[in-house]
Amino acid sequence: MSDSHGGIWIDIEDIGDSGLDIEYIKDPSFFDFKGKDFKIVKDVTIKGTINRFDNDIYLNGRVSTTLEYICSRCLNIFTEEIGTEFSAEYLPESEGITKEEVELIASDLNSYYYKGEGIDILPPIIDQILLSISLKPLCNENCKGLCPHCGQNLNIAICSCKREEINERFSTLKKIKF
Ligand SMILES: [Zn+2]
Ligand SMILES: [Zn+2]
Repeated sequence: MSDSHGGIWIDIEDIGDSGLDIEYIKDPSFFDFKGKDFKIVKDVTIKGTINRFDNDIYLNGRVSTTLEYICSRCLNIFTEEIGTEFSAEYLPESEGITKEEVELIASDLNSYYYKGEGIDILPPIIDQILLSISLKPLCNENCKGLCPHCGQNLNIAICSCKREEINERFSTLKKIKF
């Protein structure tokens, strides 16, 4: 497997009539989220059950970990725990289907394809982590951010620029009036 994430492979034979319970704890270094603006900073816990009905395989699970972000307003580093339930369906990749078609169907987040004797449960886990990340991370929803003039973190202290800015606005208003 040349995937940079390595994969977490389950042998289909191991999925019995009553399903297969799984539990994995993976080190952050197992995941490759380079180039993303978050970082995994704690072990990733994956728990779930896999069931099989003929050739269709269903995974119901939960993934949890702690992510580190840079606040989009004040640029401080902060961490956030995530925990998300997910379901994934694995369908056998039939031979008549083209690669393009597989990619098209695979873009549906809950459906994955397998061929051969095993399924890789890592892709839905990665998708879940990507779905849970904040696109505009905030250390606190009331984060005051940085002063655009002097760069002061306004959560820590108020700078003197702020008042001047308000005064400027007042004088502009006066000008408009006259
Ligand atoms: Zn902040
Ligand atoms: Zn300032």
